[in-house]
Amino acid sequence: MNNKVGTITEIQRFCLHDGPGIRTTVFLKGCNMRCVWCHNPETLRPTFDILVQPTKCIRCGACVEECTHGARKIDEHTGDIAYRTDYCVSCGACAESCYSSAIVRVGRNLSVSEVLLEVAEDRAYYDRSGGGVTISGGEPTCQLEFTVALLRACRGHGLHAALETNLYAPWDRVEIALREADLVMFDIKLMSQVRHREATGVSNTRILHNATRLSQLGTPLIVRTPVVPGYNDTPLEIGKIARYISRFPSLLYYELLPFHPLGTSKYESLGMPYLMGGVHEPSPDSMRALADSAREAGIAVKIAGLIDGQVQASGDDNDNGNAFAAPFLLGQT
Ligand code: SF4
Ligand code: SF4
Repeated sequence: MNNKVGTITEIQRFCLHDGPGIRTTVFLKGCNMRCVWCHNPETLRPTFDILVQPTKCIRCGACVEECTHGARKIDEHTGDIAYRTDYCVSCGACAESCYSSAIVRVGRNLSVSEVLLEVAEDRAYYDRSGGGVTISGGEPTCQLEFTVALLRACRGHGLHAALETNLYAPWDRVEIALREADLVMFDIKLMSQVRHREATGVSNTRILHNATRLSQLGTPLIVRTPVVPGYNDTPLEIGKIARYISRFPSLLYYELLPFHPLGTSKYESLGMPYLMGGVHEPSPDSMRALADSAREAGIAVKIAGLIDGQVQASGDDNDNGNAFAAPFLLGQT
């Protein structure tokens, strides 16, 4: 019995793009980076979020009655429901009262034992496909104790446990989690420190340092780059990253993830500004050209979601903001 509690955004079953085989991905809440292209804004804050979709509202007024904080009020003139985010304490009472799902609370607190019970349900699929459990986010190491306990619990019960992390934390803090994982997946988004700070809010110095130390542990690694037009979609940038990671002895492969503007509606629902308006996904041809430039470093390269020459959105936009929603294809080296 492990009673350590974490704040979870979602537990998603049958994931095909969060590591090898069929996997269950546990998305943890809270992130210490702010990538401008993040398509999971609901994972950024460590606390619960309230997603509001006014187009689904039938103006029944149930949420107004339920809210004891004055955060939801009926506009006398229009009859619309006004939402004061500055009054809202994310208690979720309105979401529970809303029959039309116009309000959804994102986040729930679960113990390690509860998560384990849920993820273990698909053990047969993991065994058959070489899959397992992936702990993702947000950034899982923001809930370090819970992450470590969950990794241990999964492995202790014979489940392959992967950790998807941004590596942006002091080594001494995250080492324990990295050592508990059967597989670590992390992003290198840009090699330029200045550009990295502009795009993510933080320098990449610590990430690159941690990546090098991690590679010395011998843990199998998958390195990924979300390919974002205007930021890193050039053979020069991708080639630099590929050369950097080519010296990691335990690198399984490098994966390029084409940007998809999938998170747009979530930003609206959360009342957050979306900074990637008008940016489109890179074409399959440009993705192939980038993959070719990466292969020049002598490493295996995959392009996520390239099926029959077309970049496919998976329809699952609840992937980690570090990486992009797209089906994972085996054998596309
Ligand atoms: S409970 Fe839901 S449907 Fe009813 S007014 Fe509130 S948001 Fe609209
Ligand atoms: S989450 Fe709670 S405080 Fe916020 S609007 Fe809903 S009922 Fe009110």
